[in-house]
Amino acid sequence: MSTEPKKGFTLVEMLVVISIIVMLAGMILPVLSKARRKGVETECKSNLKQFGSALELAKTDNNERLPGRLTNLYPSYCDNKELFICPADITNGKEGGKPDSDEKKDWESDGDETIEKGLKINSSYFYEFSEVECKWNFEFVGSAEEITGDPDGKPTWNQVKYYQLRHGDDWSRDIEHFFYPEDRFPVVRCFWHVFNTNVQRDKIIKNLAFSGRVFESPTKWEDGAFNN
Ligand SMILES: [Zn+2]
Repeated sequence: MSTEPKKGFTLVEMLVVISIIVMLAGMILPVLSKARRKGVETECKSNLKQFGSALELAKTDNNERLPGRLTNLYPSYCDNKELFICPADITNGKEGGKPDSDEKKDWESDGDETIEKGLKINSSYFYEFSEVECKWNFEFVGSAEEITGDPDGKPTWNQVKYYQLRHGDDWSRDIEHFFYPEDRFPVVRCFWHVFNTNVQRDKIIKNLAFSGRVFESPTKWEDGAFNN
């Protein structure tokens, strides 16, 4: 008696195979996406570290002052345009450095160098020391005259931030520190990781500190920078 050799799979066998594949994918995909997220974060932190070194070099050529724009580092102090793009930034630097919030409009007009006309390259990063006028309420830091040395002076973000770093502000005077430590005072910030992770949004801004240290903080760094 001859038996027909079995051809192909039965429906039940196919379903078993498919369900095993689905189960394995369910186990592997979260691991892969977590690994990818870690890779993206590592690359962003590496960009921030490199900005730290480039800014140090720029300072020595600029009377120990930080440059007026982060993108001024290109090409003399940093000849790689890729460095200005965080891999978590889905717009490749076109949206600028403060993409995540309803405050966007304010930040664009006040401090975001990437929105200004005449920009040479795109950037995903927010620069705190921009040489643009600070239209923010800086009175809690000091008077315009204290900050600029001119009774009619209009402080730039660069001036306000240096003043805040050296003299503190109403907020830092209220707590135990009179002024801000250089290793917790952000110079460059990345806001793009809020789109890239489901961890608590408040804890994931990546910062390059004035001292060159890279650290994470809440959006309002003054609230949490003292804790890590
Ligand atoms: Zn980033």
